[in-house]
Amino acid sequence: MSIPPLDRSTIWPYDDGEPGTFYYSRYANPTTNAAEDALGELEGGEAILFSSGAGATTAVALTFLEPGATVAVAEGCYYGTPSLFRELARWGLRHVEFDQTGAPPEGADLIWLEAPSNPFLTMPDFEAAAAHGAPVLVDATASTPVYLRAFERGADLVLHSATKYLTGHHDALLGAVVCRDNADAARLRAFRGVAGITPAPEAAWLLQRGLKTLELRMLRHTETASELARRLERHPNVECVRYPGFGGLLSFDVAGGADPARDVERRLREIANATSLGGADSTLEWRGRWEGERVPAGLLRLSVGLEPAERLWEDLSQALDR
Ligand code: PLP
Repeated sequence: MSIPPLDRSTIWPYDDGEPGTFYYSRYANPTTNAAEDALGELEGGEAILFSSGAGATTAVALTFLEPGATVAVAEGCYYGTPSLFRELARWGLRHVEFDQTGAPPEGADLIWLEAPSNPFLTMPDFEAAAAHGAPVLVDATASTPVYLRAFERGADLVLHSATKYLTGHHDALLGAVVCRDNADAARLRAFRGVAGITPAPEAAWLLQRGLKTLELRMLRHTETASELARRLERHPNVECVRYPGFGGLLSFDVAGGADPARDVERRLREIANATSLGGADSTLEWRGRWEGERVPAGLLRLSVGLEPAERLWEDLSQALDR
């Protein structure tokens, strides 16, 4: 066992007048390569890291799709994904949203699933997606390889916002695409190099460290989130709880809509009123501020961290009790 070094170099000298594997860090860096190997092994494919999850999404769209192509994207998925596809409409990309608990629409050139969706927490119908015929991408950010072997369920590409559980501490911005097919990986890697959506080596280093505790963290997130979901379901000021039964992400609707939900945000003492998910520290936010009418007015998203369940429940219940 040895701790992998962090190489911050942007250049490596040529050997006898010839560039080696590493010569300019926009194309490849040893720290990033080592983290890619570790993630690829865990997921069962070839991993390529990007500067963020959104950067990974951009790379997939621009590498594998052409003007006029259509992405069928899971309704209720991370709102930034369809926002990015809307932006790319100027370059000829089309997208349609569909209910991922059923079959994807005919005519799609890429099927974009999210398992589970953020913040609606639906799980896709993997068999229906695999039967469609178009390549299938699964954004597995919230399940991680601990809870989802996406290649075994028919995925061709697996995407992660590694900013979330994979690094796991709210201190690294990073994205990943894992490819079943090495030829896809080579195309994505080449695109990353020319587009420059390359990760910082520090973030890649933190990924390698994060992966060592991923399974333990996910088990603890699940244990605590399951307990909190059960208690939230019984709370008189909570109308609906969405939790897939694993992982640390859940959402619930506060009775009375936006104002009471925003009051809960302000009353929190321990849980950070902040965006993002997947960290050791719990975060909660009213999603209406970003997603508008796409989400129920009283929807709060909770990312359950690694704190003791009782401490989190104490905070949640005092914030919910009016
Ligand atoms: N996919 C999911 C499911 C997400 O939740 C997010 C971010 O919240 C992203 C992708 C985008 O990742 P990043 O914020 O690392 O760009």
